[in-house]
Amino acid sequence: MKRDEILTRVGKRTEPWDIIVIGGGATGVGCAVDAASRGYDVLLLEQHDFGKGTSSRSTKLIHGGVRYLAQGNISLVREALKERGILQQNASHVVHKQAFIIPCYSLWQKAYYGVGLKIYDLLSDKHSFGKSRILSKQEVLEHVPTIETKHLTGGILYFDGQFDDTRLLIDLVKTAHDHGAAVLNYAKVIGFLNDDQGGVAGVRFQDQETDDKFTIPSRCVINATGAYCDAVRSMSDDRSKPIVTLSQGIHLVFDSKFLRSENAIMIPKTSDGRVLFCIPWHGQTLVGTTDTRISSADLEPLALESEIDFVLETAGHYLMEKPIRSDILSIFTGIRPLVRSGATKNTASLSRGHTIEINDSGLLTITGGKWTTYRHMAEDAVDQAARLAELAIRASITETLTIHKAKPDAANGDRLHTDLPYTITDVVHAVQHEMARAVEDVLARRTRALFVNARAAIEAAPKTAEIMAGQLGYDQKWCEVEVERFTEIAEKYLPRK
Ligand SMILES: Cc1cc2nc3c(=O)[nH]c(=O)nc-3n(C[C@H](O)[C@H](O)[C@H](O)COP(=O)(O)OP(=O)(O)OC[C@H]3O[C@@H](n4cnc5c(N)ncnc54)[C@H](O)[C@@H]3O)c2cc1C
Repeated sequence: MKRDEILTRVGKRTEPWDIIVIGGGATGVGCAVDAASRGYDVLLLEQHDFGKGTSSRSTKLIHGGVRYLAQGNISLVREALKERGILQQNASHVVHKQAFIIPCYSLWQKAYYGVGLKIYDLLSDKHSFGKSRILSKQEVLEHVPTIETKHLTGGILYFDGQFDDTRLLIDLVKTAHDHGAAVLNYAKVIGFLNDDQGGVAGVRFQDQETDDKFTIPSRCVINATGAYCDAVRSMSDDRSKPIVTLSQGIHLVFDSKFLRSENAIMIPKTSDGRVLFCIPWHGQTLVGTTDTRISSADLEPLALESEIDFVLETAGHYLMEKPIRSDILSIFTGIRPLVRSGATKNTASLSRGHTIEINDSGLLTITGGKWTTYRHMAEDAVDQAARLAELAIRASITETLTIHKAKPDAANGDRLHTDLPYTITDVVHAVQHEMARAVEDVLARRTRALFVNARAAIEAAPKTAEIMAGQLGYDQKWCEVEVERFTEIAEKYLPRK
């Protein structure tokens, strides 16, 4: 996967593409995989790096969603549980089984959650990750020794999936590339090409590295830009009304000592009626998330102080050692594009299902949904796109399509930082095989350094820049600019003093 070669291929092509996908998150890359593996000609354009948006900022769960079960959304849970099973089968190198403990403080809670999780087991059918069961207080402590024991009566053990979101994303980018798709990061769509009737007939994009502009014809365009989908829809038709509402969720990362277990905790009802997870992830403890309505999208959304306080306080109720601000290793925030259902202030109750819309200019937008259901979303979107563009009808093959394992198992070489598991080999691999162009790409999304320990990531930036410059043929000045740019971003992942 070489960006320069792909850009040359795209620039030289005069034939319209069958499908152009805008957006390099889970949804867009999923569409590129689906369409390319059906044999369509596909171009995917991402304005920044693959996964810069919400798809690098999830809670890292491949799950049916116990919360949606409590809301009675059985069809969404069933769909997600099926997709969970498919993902584990097709990407077993990234998705693994995770045990969760729901702590209970009364007999009633044990019965309520015990029955609920049995229904969850039943809904997963042949895609089951393991049977749930009720635990005594002692068994809960054996599973999570750091759990707060005051008033604890027992708990429920159940199983779901866990993954590394951007590792899966980069592997999906590779899969799309393997099937002939042209995939470009740092390629921002800035407008549309119209036919005589004013319909969308292609896109205009700008290479963010050179500022060169390209006009590319296409039979169909899929808008998979998540929180930005309304901005892109207005670019194609300025009369279009917004279809999504935005809500942000934050995560805090702490040392592994707060959990000291391979098992996760699921808090089923926080004081604001949400769920909160404490999960072991890359050797640390990840805690989240929140649901806060916001008015506009930012590529680096900031956690509110009130959200940080809320997560610290809630986690503190359930852990023996109460985490405090100075324990925070990283804070990351993602934005949910929630499909609108009339005027509501309560984003936690908006639809988590996906929506496909085709506006008057013929732009197809797919939005909403979850990481877990990206494959099904992509299948639906490409079915619609093929019909819209009158392409030869071909069925999706992604239910059984193995996802590319892009990264070698063991990375050798010197470490970038004593507090991080990543090595020089990881950096070289990311540049040579995974289209990493900036220090941030390597430290935030090819490795997860920024997400597991922001301060260590800042300290690892100069070495990372030096290795990248050697690979990409850049000079000392590039290194200085990159380190400064990365540091500015990474400081947003640390608590403000
Ligand atoms: C806090 C939080 C936690 C979550 N946790 C989970 C979880 O544990 N499990 C789960 O299944 N789901 C989870 N989700 C949901 C999941 O993360 C999202 O559904 C999914 O990542 C959305 O992917 P996307 O591709 O639609 O959007 P994004 O990942 O945001 O991708 C959209 C992309 O479009 C690009 N773009 C925008 N404008 C342009 C343009 N003009 N030209 C080119 N590119 C453009 C952006 O740069 C961006 O990369 C969570 C969501 C949030 C907010």
